[in-house]
Amino acid sequence: MTGQELQERIAREVDANPDNTLQGRLRYYDHPLIGVAPAADPLFVQMKEADIAGDLFRLPQEWLPGAASVLVYYLPFSREVRSSNYAGSKASMEWLHARFRGEAFSNKLREMLIGLMEAQGEKALAPMLEESMVIDYQRLSSNWSERHAAYAAGLGTFSLNRGMITAKGMAGRFGSMITTLELEPTPRIYEDPFQNCPWMVDGSCGECMDRCPSGAITENGKDKRVCYEYLFVQDPLKKEREPFGYPYSACGKCQTAVPCESRIP
Ligand code: SF4
Ligand code: SF4
Repeated sequence: MTGQELQERIAREVDANPDNTLQGRLRYYDHPLIGVAPAADPLFVQMKEADIAGDLFRLPQEWLPGAASVLVYYLPFSREVRSSNYAGSKASMEWLHARFRGEAFSNKLREMLIGLMEAQGEKALAPMLEESMVIDYQRLSSNWSERHAAYAAGLGTFSLNRGMITAKGMAGRFGSMITTLELEPTPRIYEDPFQNCPWMVDGSCGECMDRCPSGAITENGKDKRVCYEYLFVQDPLKKEREPFGYPYSACGKCQTAVPCESRIP
């Protein structure tokens, strides 16, 4: 099994699986990008030692002894989901559903990919589905980072708003798994971890600062605590989200109606 075959398999699910839609009407995701990093890539050790991915960060081999590859996919939100979020200071209902039901669909993709690899006699796991996955909301840190895995897997670079700008932009969701399956690594075609964000290169753009309703994004980057308080404490969509059982608000204003929404600026 190759990365290309896995990409085509995810694309088929995106096209045909009704769980990628809100009752057949709103489609959450378009076709994915796929990237692969060797599990032994020294970049993971550097991220851990330099505390770049957070001090809780666990290496691929610490998640899965014998790991050979880290597979990461990026699912861009559909144009309908993205454009629904352009107006107003609160997230649209389409964005809210895509955030939570779209992630439920992504969890099914993670399970499907694990099943495909296990059917080949390999081991595989998705940290986000593991009981040992830790997200420390006090320190806003976790023991696995899909964005950092995406960087290692050649999918894109970091940005002023602490997102990740891929060839299909940043308005979307990542998924990742660690496997004993040997997959061909994806070349990292960037030299700088912020290369795709004009602000980080030469101070141009910066449009995400004006888009943020909480003031979390400044010239110095994103204050994760301010964004967290907005989504979890201020909870601007509490009334709208509660009937659906979603655990907190969504936003995504810094990912939509900006030059990096669906492309590299
Ligand atoms: S809106 Fe501009 S400055 Fe902000 S992350 Fe995107 S490219 Fe970078
Ligand atoms: S998600 Fe919303 S509140 Fe958080 S940084 Fe982006 S625009 Fe600001």
